[in-house]
Amino acid sequence: MNPTSTAQDDARQVRLARKLAAPDPGWSTSADVIVIGSGVAGLTAALELCGRVGKVVLLTKTVLSSGSTVWAQGGIAAALDPTDSVAAHREDTLVAGGGLCDEHCVDVLVSEGPARVRELVARGALFDRDDDGEIMLGLEGGHHASRIAHAGGDATGAEISRALVAQIEQVRDHPGIEVIEHAQMIDLLTDESGRVCGATLHVVGEGTRDGVGAVHARAVVLATGGIGQLYTSSTNPPQATADGLAAALRVGAELADLEFVQFHPTVLWLGAGAKGQLTLISEAVRGEGAYLLDVDGTRFMRSVHPLAELAPRDVVSHAMVRQMAATGSDHVLLDARHLGGQFLQQRFPTITERLHAAGFEFDNDLIPVAPAQHFHSGGIVTDDHGRTTVPGLYAVGECACTGVHGANRLASNSLLEGLVFAHRAARDIAAQIDGGALPITRPVERSGNAGLVAGAARSRIQRVMTTGTGAVRDAQSLHNALVALRNVPADVHLREDVLASPQSAEWETSNIFATAVALSVAASLREESRGGHFRADFPEPTEAGRHRIVLSLDEAGALRTQRRSVTM
Ligand SMILES: Cc1cc2nc3c(=O)[nH]c(=O)nc-3n(C[C@H](O)[C@H](O)[C@H](O)COP(=O)(O)OP(=O)(O)OC[C@H]3O[C@@H](n4cnc5c(N)ncnc54)[C@H](O)[C@@H]3O)c2cc1C
Repeated sequence: MNPTSTAQDDARQVRLARKLAAPDPGWSTSADVIVIGSGVAGLTAALELCGRVGKVVLLTKTVLSSGSTVWAQGGIAAALDPTDSVAAHREDTLVAGGGLCDEHCVDVLVSEGPARVRELVARGALFDRDDDGEIMLGLEGGHHASRIAHAGGDATGAEISRALVAQIEQVRDHPGIEVIEHAQMIDLLTDESGRVCGATLHVVGEGTRDGVGAVHARAVVLATGGIGQLYTSSTNPPQATADGLAAALRVGAELADLEFVQFHPTVLWLGAGAKGQLTLISEAVRGEGAYLLDVDGTRFMRSVHPLAELAPRDVVSHAMVRQMAATGSDHVLLDARHLGGQFLQQRFPTITERLHAAGFEFDNDLIPVAPAQHFHSGGIVTDDHGRTTVPGLYAVGECACTGVHGANRLASNSLLEGLVFAHRAARDIAAQIDGGALPITRPVERSGNAGLVAGAARSRIQRVMTTGTGAVRDAQSLHNALVALRNVPADVHLREDVLASPQSAEWETSNIFATAVALSVAASLREESRGGHFRADFPEPTEAGRHRIVLSLDEAGALRTQRRSVTM
């Protein structure tokens, strides 16, 4: 098999839907801006827009405190200590990004980060403080200075979410904002020039906002989070079905760096049948001295890397995958017993509690762990103001690809990215509206096929993605994944006699499917290993690989792929 021509053939054979099959909207409303998602990015954008534009509508699939944000453990990185510097944070971010970071966006991230974290404090977020009342700053893998602000020990995301949701609750009755919970964005609306001018959504509610509706707007901000549900197991919550990426793709927006997926090494392994969101055991636990054993009791990381268990996440994940294969097991073991119950309870209260709920005592049991999907460095291409390549459409947070993460995210930079770029996007939209840009336009029916993948196909897609595009990939596994994905919609109908009808599970699964195809194409085209993309058949980075793979959908639903040089 010639990997290069097979990858290109596979990419050429793909056809994706340009819209989702859905009932016509039964109600409609209008706003200046729609923000879709209520993690750190969406909440920040909505709060910054409220009062600066006439009306903002904030939609969220379930409740305001949904998304990955609330699950974040470690903290948020910013050069807050006088002994630290923006330049040092910049350097650590660029090293982690493996030569593919957008250096300008990294400059924006690290230089504006400290002010945004201080604003978060002013909004009520209670970070852990030392005896002098200063914010305590921890150290994490890849950082050469203590710059990780944390809250509640290992409950940083929950505190950030609490503080931002409380701020939204304070303005909820303001006529300039409407919050719609249990509202799933289905598709983006486009006008005759292709500009985004609103979104369709499905609301499980009461009264006028119920069922499928449409919101017309001057601008739409996607803040829909990660892609965890593309994989059988992930640390991401159930809402992480890549809805924003797939919707952006359908309106012709560019996606980039899709192949760079971070697999966290130490995720609680609950047996072969376990799926969905699984408990993350922060690398801070290994930082405190916990180590990894294979199922035969061998501490294997010492022979893999000088930093042993504290080697970069991808190195640990790959070594675990190899050791699992060598021992014929699907997990390894995390040993933290020597750290003592009192210390573990004090330092890691949330993890201790989650392990206990799953039947494990941190100080007494060897904890079974295996790598699972954790973070997506790629996403919807944006500039330094969150503007996508389609007018009227912005993207912020994990669903966006500003280029700050390059091929791999530096620990604790993602909450910061959400804060910094949501703030910038909101200010940009307000300024554009003030300046007479971002006009109100009328949606038209978009050309191209409408599609729908049956919800019953979801677990099959997840298995295909886990086997084909997991922590270790090669040409054969990627080719097999694309062949299997191409057969998914037809196979599900034929074999299981399931007809897809337009509803929540089908819309989500269609989004998972489209993003899975695009990610697999990008991964098959990158014939090297770099950051979050490890190819067993091309185990080293190459000079030729210093470019970004950018994908978009043409009017016929074919994926266009481009290699683009990295902005320095
Ligand atoms: C277990 C865990 C630990 C982590 N630890 C850290 C850490 O210590 N530090 C760090 O920096 N990062 C960490 N991360 C990553 C970080 O939490 C995320 O990258 C970040 O929170 C993403 O924020 P966001 O606002 O972009 O998306 P999210 O917080 O994921 O929010 C997405 C929102 O979009 C909504 N949504 C999705 N689709 C739709 C739709 N179709 N219609 C309407 N709404 C929709 C969701 O309901 C949700 O409200 C961690 C992640 C996990 C899962």
